[in-house]
Amino acid sequence: MRMLLDLILPRTCGGCGVHGDVWCAGCARSLSGGPVRVRPRTDPGVPCWALGRYSGAGRRAVIAVKEHGRRDLAPPLGLALARGLATLRDPRRSLILVPAPTRRAAARRRGGDPVTRVARIAAGLLHDCQVASALRMHRAVRDSVGLGPGARRANLRGRITARAESLRAAVSATNAEVVLVDDVLTTGATAGESVRALAAAGIGVRAVMVTCAV
Ligand SMILES: [Zn+2]
Repeated sequence: MRMLLDLILPRTCGGCGVHGDVWCAGCARSLSGGPVRVRPRTDPGVPCWALGRYSGAGRRAVIAVKEHGRRDLAPPLGLALARGLATLRDPRRSLILVPAPTRRAAARRRGGDPVTRVARIAAGLLHDCQVASALRMHRAVRDSVGLGPGARRANLRGRITARAESLRAAVSATNAEVVLVDDVLTTGATAGESVRALAAAGIGVRAVMVTCAV
C-alpha cells in the first residue's frame, strides 16, 4: 500500500522539497543543533527556547503542517522537540507539556491542532512526560497575521483561559515541571498570555519551547 501511495503521491521533504523522504537528513540537522535561547519583544516572563529560527527548512515545515495538512511531518518535528526538551529538563522531575492554544476555527480547518499532535509525539518519546491541553483561546481572537506586537497583545488580552484543575493536581502530585510548547514564537504575545492564564490558575510555567522563533 505504501509503495502504491508513493507512486500516486511521491513523498517530498517538508523542509526542502527533495523527493524520497518526508523530512530529509539535511533538514533534520537544521533543527537538531540544540535549543537556542530567544527573547521575543513581548517578554512572557519565563525563559523562551527555540529549536531553530523561523527561516529555511524549519519555517517551511511549520507552514506545511499548519497550512497544507502535512501530518506526516508531525513525527520528525516531535522527535526534534523531544530532543530539545531532553537537554533542558530536570531529569529527576516529571515533565508536562501544555500546547499553546489555537483559534478553534483554524484548528478545525486543519483537521486537529498540529501543535498538540507534535507535543504528543514528543511526550511519547520522553521519560515521564505527558501533554495537558489546558488552554483555550476565546472565539473573539482574530487571526494575528499582519498585527504588530501591541495589536497582538490587545487581540489576546484576557482571551486565553486555563481549565487547569486536573493539571494543577498532576503538577502537585508529581512535582512536575510545566513547559508551554508552540510551533512559532513571533512577538511572544500568545506565550505571554498563556503563561499569565496558567499563573492565574496557580500553575507556574518553567519555560516556553517552540519549533521556530522569528
Ligand atoms: Zn529536506
